[in-house]
Formats: sequence, structure tokens, C-alpha cells
Amino acid sequence: MKKKEFKAESKKLLNMMINSIYTNKEIFLRELISNSSDALDKLYYLSSANGELKVLKDDLKIRLELDKENRTIKVIDNGIGMTKEELENNLGTIAKSGTELFKEENSDSKNLEIIGQFGVGFYSSFMIAKKVEVLSRSINSDDAYLWVSDGIDGYTIEESSKDSNGTEITLYLKDNTDDVNYDDYLESYTIERIVKKYSDYIKYPIEMDIETEREDEKTKKKESHIETEKLNSMIPIWKKKKSDVTDEEYNNFYADKFYDYEHPLKVVSSSVEGLTSYNALLFIPSHAPYNYYTKEYEKGLMLYSRGVMIMDKCADLLPDYFSFVKGIVDSEDISLNISRETMQEDKQIKLIAKNLETKIKRELEGMLKDERENYEKFYEAFGEQLKYGIYSSFGMNKELLQDLLLFYSSSEEKLVTLDEYVSRMGDEKTIYYASGETIDKIKLLPSVEDALSRGKEVLFFTNYLDEFVIKTMGGYKEKNFMNVQDSNFDLSSDDEKKELKKKNASAKDLFNSMKEILGDNVKEIRFTNRLKNHPVCLITEGEVSLEMEKVLNAMPNNENVKANKILEINENHPISKKLEELYENKEIEEIKKYTKILYNQARLIEGLTIENPTEITNLICDMMSK
Ligand code: ADP
Repeated sequence: MKKKEFKAESKKLLNMMINSIYTNKEIFLRELISNSSDALDKLYYLSSANGELKVLKDDLKIRLELDKENRTIKVIDNGIGMTKEELENNLGTIAKSGTELFKEENSDSKNLEIIGQFGVGFYSSFMIAKKVEVLSRSINSDDAYLWVSDGIDGYTIEESSKDSNGTEITLYLKDNTDDVNYDDYLESYTIERIVKKYSDYIKYPIEMDIETEREDEKTKKKESHIETEKLNSMIPIWKKKKSDVTDEEYNNFYADKFYDYEHPLKVVSSSVEGLTSYNALLFIPSHAPYNYYTKEYEKGLMLYSRGVMIMDKCADLLPDYFSFVKGIVDSEDISLNISRETMQEDKQIKLIAKNLETKIKRELEGMLKDERENYEKFYEAFGEQLKYGIYSSFGMNKELLQDLLLFYSSSEEKLVTLDEYVSRMGDEKTIYYASGETIDKIKLLPSVEDALSRGKEVLFFTNYLDEFVIKTMGGYKEKNFMNVQDSNFDLSSDDEKKELKKKNASAKDLFNSMKEILGDNVKEIRFTNRLKNHPVCLITEGEVSLEMEKVLNAMPNNENVKANKILEINENHPISKKLEELYENKEIEEIKKYTKILYNQARLIEGLTIENPTEITNLICDMMSK
């Protein structure tokens, strides 16, 4: 019999499969099962269109057979089958439009990725088989044909016989190598696992005979026993109406698929028909995975098409700022096969991703409104990611994310949204905040004390990103933000300001000599009336605050960023008088000591380190012993 050659494009693909550069060999089964499922669909469709053809849905099945002796795997269906011509056309070449993809260089790993993701079809059999037989009988014919190929050389088709319509594919496994033990595929548990992983929701039963050992009740002897088992669960939970699924079922499904044994905070199910149709089942986890804030974490949703898993983690379905969402998207519009242009698929995925983004945002807003406690739990786990979403986009995602942010409010003593803060502002133009390590430490900051004593609501920022985020935002609803530790923060009256200005002018020489001692460490030294009981504080002028200085300098490759610091001394504190006295008496050595101590005290208060602790302790002890 004359061997026919494969078409050129098919040859390329086949070559790749045979040499199996693509490591994920197990998907061959997914491909064959999907083809069978399609063949069953087609037959069922035909029968519903043609009254004479009687097909019972319950009879439609896919059967798997493992033969350890002959090292074969069979995939059998009673679907539409193929005529001789169809065998020739369908298995001798790959679908025309798919060939576009292969005009490019095949060895490019990027292409391989695409193939792996979008289905590789029948040829993937050659990743694990050295020879493939396809025995098929079309529903439209009484003749059966056997297609045989041992790979690249081509294929033969000969007449054969088969009792009924359908297709039976026999894979003759490759010989084991040092790297791959192909015999694994002859184990029923391997096959069960692969079916569960990729084809669990195929809507026809996938059956296999499984040998089990059972004890005979009378003889107490163990006997092996063969039972036909259905390997797939068939109905995808995401296609069911939310009201038909219990919380427990959702929780189990979530734990099963995403290996998280804490229940999700929220289950979002959505079914969309239109430009793209899809079902999505999304979960908002109740805690961040251990590697969430590391590079190792991979975002993405499972992508299914017609009950078949195409991708484990489709990253394009989720924006980075919602990378915590887990779930599944099933869309008929996404082709499992490479027979479609990938560009087209990208468009579908983008569309779905856009819809999901809106959906997730709405769900989070709903949670914030109606389930505050849950939302706060969510925010504790993933708030940083939302902030990062604003910061890293240079504010482009501000509108989308700003109302999902929470900050601790001094007056409410709990987390509040910016909108809630604004609702209490009246005509006030400025949203006040202060940054520090913890709520308690921020409360103790001298500038915060001042703001609070003047009845201001202050947001306490304890996350290293907070200040960067609001700087990126610029403002919120026509209000601007101000750090109470900033030199611009001044709530004193005009008279008070005038008075202070006078006082500072008269102490100019004192401050100059103090400044000489501190050098570049501070930009300025001056009296202030913002302090009540505290003698000193450090405030900043310009873009970089003290907290930002800390954060920036903790980063790798930091460029030693410095905030412009101003040392303020409480004009009403006895220490001011003391300094002025010392200056009048020309006790410059003493002023030097006082300045160093005061400056370092101010640093300590702000949570900064002392550059030379020994010197400072010695100075203090000197004074104590006087
Ligand atoms: P694709 O499924 O992407 O079209 P395949 O290479 O997997 O590409 O299959 C090629 C064609 O062969 C299918 O489109 C189908 O027409 C036919 N085919 C494959 N398997 C079967 C089967 N089990 N029963 C009937 N037809 C089949």
C-alpha cells in the first residue's frame, strides 16, 4: 500500500510533536477527548436536525482502554465518525487557518507556548505514541477505514470493519527513555488524574474499566474485580445558577481547585451573553498566599472552553491590582484549537478581562458598603496591592481604585474611606495625614498632637506605600492632601504668625550658630508655636517626607535620598529661654551641646536613628552630672 505524505504544514507540527519539544505531554489526552466530544456533539446535532436518525443522548459516551501488555491506550467514541475522505482531509493536514501560525519559525519558544495554550489537536498523540491508528466509521456510511501513521513518514488508509459509527484511536506508546517513563500512561490513576485535570467538565461520560481488589464475604479471599467508572464530573459548577449551589459546594470546589483551605471571602458568579459569551466563577480569598507579595506569585484565572481546560493560569484575564482573585472563566468563544488566529483570541480575552475588572470592582464596592468587616479583612490581606495599583500606574488607575482604599482616622478611631473623610470636611480644602510606624507612635508625634488639638481629623498612614500613593493621586475630589509634619502645615492665626516671625527674626544669630553645628543635616532651625508641651520636632519641606526618606533608603540601590528637615523648637518651652540666655552669654560650647542633643531628640521622636549615639549619651551624662 502506498504511503501518503503529510501536507507541509502538518509535517512541521508533527515534527515538533514527535520530538516533543513541548514538555506538557499529558495534554494529548485532553486533545483526543475534546475531539471525541466534538464528534458526539456533531452526531447529536445531526440527529436533532434529522428525524430519521435516532440518537439517544444517554448512549453517547467516550471510553478509554489501557492495555499494559501491548502498551496501548485507546480513546473510543460513538460519535459522528469519519469517511475515508474525511480521514484523509482531517488527519492528513491541519486546518488551513491554523497554518498562519506556523509560517513563523517553529523552534521559537514563544510559538510553542501558544500551541501549548490553545490546543494542539490530534497530532499531539505523537508526543507519546510511536504509532497511531484511527479506526473510524462515519454515520453516513457502512464502511469503516483504518488510518495508520508512525509519524513523519506519512500515513496509510485501508478498508477495515467496524460494527457501528464512531472512532477508535489506538496509541502505541513510545519506548521508555531515561527521561520519560511512557508506561506511566498505562496506569489508570495517571489517566484518571489527567482526565480530572483537563476534561472534568466534558459533558459526555468518560468511562474506563478500573481494576479494584475486593474481599469475598464468604471466602475472605481478595479478588480482583473490574468496574466501569465514570472519570469526569460532567457539570461544571460555574454553569450552575448561584442559587442552585450551596456555600459548602463552592467552598469545596475552591479548596479543591486552588488549594486554599480557608473559605473565600466572596464568591462571584457571572454569566454573560453578548459580544463574547462566558461563564465566570471568581473567588476573593480571605488571606494572601504566603508568596503573594513576591515575584514568585503568578496571577491568572483558569481558562476553559466548552468544558475543556485550556490554561491553568491565564494572566491576561486579570489586571495586576486584582491579581489576588482566583477563579475560572469558561467561554465558547475561545478556540481550543490553533485553527483560529491567535489575534482574534486575544481580543476576546481582553474583552472578558475588561468585563471582569468592572465586575470585581463592583463586588468589592458592594462588600465595602454592606459587609464592612469582611471588606476590612480583605483589605488587610490585599489593600497593599490596590495601593500599588495606583502608585505603579502613575495614577492612571486612580479613578478605578481610590474609593477602595481605607486609612485609619484619628477621629473615628477605625479605618475609613476617603469619601467618608470628605463627607465630614465641610468647606475645608485639605485632607490631613501623618505617617509613622504604628497608630500609637503616630498619635505621639508632636505635629499630630497639634493638629488633633485643633480639632482636625488626621489619617494615620502606617503602610510604606501610603504616602507615595496619595502623592501619586495628587488630590481626591478637589481636596488636596497635606502631611501635618510638613512645613506648610500651619493653623495658627495671622497675629500668631506675625508674632512668631518677629521672635524668629530676633533669634536669627542664635539659629545661625546652631545651624553651623548641624550643617547639612537640617535646612533651617526656628521657633514654632505648633508644639504644646514638646520641646522640639522635625518637620520637612518639599516632596520628600521623613517617612518617605525612610522607605526610599530601605530600598535596594537607594540613592541616599534626604528629606529637607527643619528643626523646630517650642517657643513657649523653657528650653527656648535657655538657648537665648546661653547665646547672650556667649557660651558657644554649651550651645553646641544643646543643639546636638535637641536635634537628636527630635530624630528619636520621629523614629529616625541617632547617627552618633555614644556622643549623644556622653553629652547627656555630662549635663546630668553638673
Ligand atoms: P481540530 O480538532 O483542531 O480541528 P485535530 O487535528 O484535533 O484538529 O482534528 C482534525 C479533525 O479531525 C477534526 O476537526 C475532526 O473533523 C476530525 N476528528 C478528529 N478526531 C475525531 C473523532 N474522534 N471523531 C470524528 N472526527 C474527528
